Amino acid sequence: MLGELGSATSSQLSVSTPSSILIPLGSTEQHGPHLPLDTDTRIATAVASAIGARLEWPVAPAISYGASGEHQGFAGTISIGTEALSTLLVEYGRSATCWAQRLVFVNGHGGNVSALAQAVGLLRSEGRDAGWCPCAVPGGDAHAGHTETSVLLHISPNVVRTDRMRAGNDAPLRELLPSLRRGGVAAVSGIGVLGDPTTATAAQGRRIFAEMVDGGARRIARWLPGSDGMLT
Ligand SMILES: [Zn+2]
Repeated sequence: MLGELGSATSSQLSVSTPSSILIPLGSTEQHGPHLPLDTDTRIATAVASAIGARLEWPVAPAISYGASGEHQGFAGTISIGTEALSTLLVEYGRSATCWAQRLVFVNGHGGNVSALAQAVGLLRSEGRDAGWCPCAVPGGDAHAGHTETSVLLHISPNVVRTDRMRAGNDAPLRELLPSLRRGGVAAVSGIGVLGDPTTATAAQGRRIFAEMVDGGARRIARWLPGSDGMLT
C-alpha cells in the first residue's frame, strides 16, 4: 500500500494499473486566539489519511490555501480567492487524471465550496472521474468553536492554546449571514470565533473525527457525485 503519494516513486504508479487518490484541501486563515492558522488543513489531512488507510488509496500532499476572504480582517489569513482556487483545482484534476483513475478532494473549509463545485463540476463534464467530500458533521458549529476545537484536541492536542479559549458568537449561521457577507467574520465576532470552544474535549473530538471519516468513506464507496461534484 502506498500511503503518502509524496513519498512514493513514479514507478509505483502506473497507467496500466491506475490508482485513485485523495487530496486534502484546507486553508490558511485565522481560527480565533486558540487554534492555528492551518486548522482546516490539519483536519482535512487527518481525515483523508484515515480514509486512505481504510480504502488503500494514497493521500497527496495537501493544498493548504483556499478561499478565505471572509477572514481577511484578521492577521495571518492568506486567501487565494474562489477564482484562483477553482483554476488550481481544474488544472490539478486535468494533470492527475492523466494517470489516476479517480480523485477525491477532502475539504476542510466551507469557504472552498464554490470553487470545488465549479472546478469538480467542470472536470466531470470533461469526463474525468473526480469528486469531493466535506469534513462536516450534522449540528457542528461554524468556526473555531466546539467542533473544530474538539477535533484538534484529538488529532493535534499540542497546538491548541487551551488557556486562550473564549466563547465567540454562537448565533445560527443563517442569522449571521447578512452581516457576514457585508463585513466578514470580524463584523460578527471580534475574536474570530463562531461557536463555543470552551466546551470542547478530546473525547468529543474522537467521536466527531470518527464521524467525519466514516461519512467520507461511505460517500466514496457509494460514488454518486452530484452535479457540483460532491459525493452524496
Ligand atoms: Zn476551520
